[in-house]
Parts: sequence; C-alpha cells; structure tokens
Amino acid sequence: MANITLKDICKTYSNGVSAVDHFNLEIKDKEFIIFVGPSGCGKSTTLRMIAGLEDITAGELMIDGDLMNDVPARDRDVAMVFQSYALYPHMTIYDNIAFGLRRKKLSKAEMDAKVQEAARILDLESQLKKKPKELSGGQKQRVAMGAAIVREPKVFLMDEPLSNLDAKLRVQMRVEIAQLHKRLGATIIYVTHDQTEAMTLGTRIVVMKDGVIQQVDTPDHLYAKPRNLFVAGFIGSPQMNFLHMTVKEEAGDIYLEAGELKLRLPENKKECLKGYVDNQIIMGIRPGDIKTLDDSEERLEQWAADVKVQVYELLGAEALLYFEYAGNRIIASVSAKTEAREGGGIRLAFDMDKAYLFDRDTELAIL
Ligand code: ADP
Repeated sequence: MANITLKDICKTYSNGVSAVDHFNLEIKDKEFIIFVGPSGCGKSTTLRMIAGLEDITAGELMIDGDLMNDVPARDRDVAMVFQSYALYPHMTIYDNIAFGLRRKKLSKAEMDAKVQEAARILDLESQLKKKPKELSGGQKQRVAMGAAIVREPKVFLMDEPLSNLDAKLRVQMRVEIAQLHKRLGATIIYVTHDQTEAMTLGTRIVVMKDGVIQQVDTPDHLYAKPRNLFVAGFIGSPQMNFLHMTVKEEAGDIYLEAGELKLRLPENKKECLKGYVDNQIIMGIRPGDIKTLDDSEERLEQWAADVKVQVYELLGAEALLYFEYAGNRIIASVSAKTEAREGGGIRLAFDMDKAYLFDRDTELAIL
C-alpha cells in the first residue's frame, strides 16, 4: 500500500529560486502518476522532495498517513530510477541488481530468489553473469530498474528514465514500463518532459509550469478538456493551433472573425460566448480538425476557407500543411493523399464542433 499526499508543498532554493509553489496532490495506491512540463518547471525538484533528496521548504508530505518531511531518504521505502543508469561497471548484472538489497538482512537463498524473480520480470535472466559494458542501453536501464524492483519499495520514483535511449528503444522501454506497472501493481511517479510518454504511460498526469500545477487529469480528459491555453498547447502533437479572433453577433448567431475568416459557432458553443461579443478571444483547433473537403461531411462546408500553403511536410500517412490567416500561423494535418503542395492553394474547413475557446486575458478555457 502506498498513498501519498502532498499538501501545499513549496520549495525555494538557497539562491532564492522558487522551484515549486503550493503543490497539492493525492496519489492513490497503484497509480501511475506523471509529472510533465517544460524544462525547469519543477518536476525533478518535486520528485526529489518525495524521495528525500531535497528538503521541503514548506508544506507536508505524507506516505500512508505518516509525515515524511524529516524522515531520511533511506527510511522512506521509495526507490528511485534515474536517467543515468548508475550501474557499477566492475560488478556483474547479478550483483548490480542484488545491490539494491544490501540494507535488508537476507539469507543468500532469499536474495537469490529475489534477483532471479526481478531478472525474469525484466527478461534479464541470460544477462546476469555479464558486466554492464556488455549490455545495450535498454538492457542497462532494465538492470537499474531491477535494482529498484528487488527492494519491493512502496513507491517507484522515476526521473526521465528513458531520455538517454535512442528513439526506437525508448518506445520499446515505454511499453515495458507500462507492462511492469501492471505486473508489479506498484505506485509509480514518473517525471518526463515528453508529452507522448506522459499520455501513453500515465493513469493520471500532472501538468506543471513555473512550479505551479496547471491541471491534474487522466490522459483523455487532458486532451479533450484542457483547463487553459498552456495545457492545450502542451498536450497533443503537432501542437494545437491558436487564433486570435473577434466575437461578433449577427441575427442571433455568434461568429468568430479574423481577417477574411468568419466562422459561425455551433449552437452548443454559442451561449458561453454571449458575454464576449465585440471582444477578442483565442480559438484553439487541433491540426487534425482542420480538414480537406474531398470526401468529408457536408457539415464542414460552412467553415471552409481558401488558404495558400506555405510549407508542405509529408510524414507518411499524413501530411502537414502550414499556412497563415490574419497573422496566425496555422498547421493542418491532412491525409497524405492531398494534392496540395508548397505555394499552391487548397480549401480547408475548420471543424468548429471541435474548436476550443479561451479567454484572452486569463488564458482559461471558456466553458
Ligand atoms: P525540471 O525537472 O522540471 O526540469 P527542476 O525541478 O530541475 O525542473 O528545476 C526547477 C527550478 O529550480 C529551475 O528554475 C531550476 O533552475 C531550479 N533549480 C533546480 N535545482 C536547483 C538547485 N540545486 N539550486 C538552485 N536552483 C535549482
């Protein structure tokens, strides 16, 4: 069992940098929690405070109801896996994994059983006699995890554990970590700056910016209902487009206008913009929701516009089209079958049923 509570946690470094600001979170047993955000937003600092590697300036950290603020790292029953594998080069893989057990007074047989079990889970059984330099990056990262697993900690803390691996291996290890989480039934807190890792691994994701939590939610909610402009722009790839638009009312309908672009809002989005008439808002639309009209639905015709393609990028099954509208740089992700090319024109529709609306001043989603 491991329930972790962070209550108004703050961290100010001795040089005056406020790295984490009133961080509040309840983590339930067996959750896979991701801390995600751009570099410097306070993810590692928060993780290191949970690990006991960093003092907590203010607030309370509880694990299973016990206050941990002043408990030394080694007594917190947490295991940390870092970006660098930190293996002992002169020791065998077996001894590297067993090293995690050095503080538990176990018999040789007990220790052997635990190492073998971890090796089995991580598919390292045939590697145990080797030295780290004989292993690939992914295998080394698995050994580092093995050293954590044998300790059977209450909580696994992982700080960008995959960022030293090449792209292919990273995908492979990502799948392995997801399976590991299921097999161990463990509580994991995982730090990454990579939104794809966050979306695929997390049961819940904590999005941070400048030391402050922006949103805590499941991956699908975060994508479908971002709380503010920052989360909307951070989650999803390619990034959501943002257009500065003026709200207009005409014959009972609400329109969003930018230059020659004039988009009627669907009925269910009208109400929330009543108070913004003649003011500017920010419209968000994901690249995949700007669509070609070839074989798509009639419903989209009303939102179509002629655009001039500035850049064309073929990604495989999709192509990205870059264009500009009233000073807004926009990316559309369409089928690679498109005949549109750089310098050419194309008619695209903004699927307003999928549009997001944000207040220009508060940057919060308008609901
Ligand atoms: P992240 O993990 O999101 O990249 P960090 O938690 O490492 O961010 O850093 C958060 C902020 O705290 C940054 O502004 C960073 O420069 C600062 N910081 C991190 N460690 C220290 C330290 N030991 N002393 C002073 N400032 C630090």
